[in-house]
Amino acid sequence: MQTRNALTHVDPELERLVQLEEARQFYTAKLIPSENYASLAVLQASGTVLTNKYSEGYARKRYYEGQQIIDQIEELAVSRAKAVFGAEHANVQPYSGSPANLAVYCGLISKTAENNRILGLGLPAGGHLTHGWKVSVTSRFFQAFQYGVDPTTHLLDYDAILTQAREVRPAVIVCGATAYPRIIDFARFAEIAKEVGALLVADMAHIAGLVAGGAHPSPVPYADAVTTTTHKTLRGPRGGMILCKSAHANVIDKAVFPGLQGGPHNHTTAGIAVALHEAASPEFRSYAHQIVANSRALAEALMHEGLELVTGGSDNHLILFNAAPLGATGKQAASAMDLAGLEANANTIPFDPRSPFDPSGVRIGTPALTSRGLKQAEMASVGRWIAQAIRGREDPAVLRRVAGEVYDLMAAFPAPGFEAPFPARPALLA
Ligand SMILES: *Cc1c(COP(=O)(O)O)cnc(C)c1O
Repeated sequence: MQTRNALTHVDPELERLVQLEEARQFYTAKLIPSENYASLAVLQASGTVLTNKYSEGYARKRYYEGQQIIDQIEELAVSRAKAVFGAEHANVQPYSGSPANLAVYCGLISKTAENNRILGLGLPAGGHLTHGWKVSVTSRFFQAFQYGVDPTTHLLDYDAILTQAREVRPAVIVCGATAYPRIIDFARFAEIAKEVGALLVADMAHIAGLVAGGAHPSPVPYADAVTTTTHKTLRGPRGGMILCKSAHANVIDKAVFPGLQGGPHNHTTAGIAVALHEAASPEFRSYAHQIVANSRALAEALMHEGLELVTGGSDNHLILFNAAPLGATGKQAASAMDLAGLEANANTIPFDPRSPFDPSGVRIGTPALTSRGLKQAEMASVGRWIAQAIRGREDPAVLRRVAGEVYDLMAAFPAPGFEAPFPARPALLA
């Protein structure tokens, strides 16, 4: 969506900034595993007059008139969500992943419940803030307890989680992660929850696209409620979604509206509907499997360069590596990569000896590059460039040379959402 005639006339200052960001996104290698490129169809659906409409409530139960079309759009998104994930009930109104999680806890744990304990994966072990981490509002309204990963393997230790769950007796167990490079055993989590009488919430924000495409086991049959973002591997607009068993539909819908939110973002609902339509296609299945194949190939390339991978590899879309073997902190590594056109984020690794502000690790992933059509052969180059950028972090000539090569490769694989004429090549940062 690069033609913005109205912006040219009305707000050229803003238009210029959008164009700069377009060029940056087009030419740099997006390795942040929570990001992706939405298709042009998704972008177009999201940028419509649907943004003008208030629709508090749910289809056929609204508080404003004029919902003849909006009801059909929301029902389409809901029915597609149920079909893609095999869910009994879907709510497509959460503004994003964090409010979706809060809504689920509010829905499943009543205001007067004596047991308001939630047990989730700790942030340093790869969990999300909203799984009850201390700075999150989810630890203010609920009594939050955290499990971790095994100190040597850095894998989820289901026996240890069961032992902790028996002690804590939580009302809700949360599984799912934001920085875990392996398959999550949702069936095992369901057994643990059942054994301690807890409800199970699975947060599949990162892996929803892999689940939709059959490249990661689905939590939907096992969890009482499943939350997700719509903009990560699912490749939709920024938004959130909740899937749940029919038995919980009422409390969860009420927790989203009127509990937590006002009017739904109808333009986003439309974008979600389009993304779900795309996710139901055979091409999306191949896409999901290619993400995993690319992640394996990139993991191999990085290990070949001497980098140390958390859990020793990846079987989803994500890789967490320790930059120490190349003499860098996570922040130094990620900044050098950024100057070299390789976009990532510094990340805590399990039992990180360094501070969260400058941790040891870097988190990368393959969803966005796979959306551009890159395959295993290109992952070998990307892995080499990552190591070259980190090793050459003090040498602008090296960073410039790598960035030039990255820009060339990206120009050869145009990103979804962009149409010719493509943006002009931006200046190198280093
Ligand atoms: C990204 C993410 C979220 C939060 O999503 P936002 O849209 O940023 O609020 C929640 N849970 C997990 C596991 C995530 O990765």
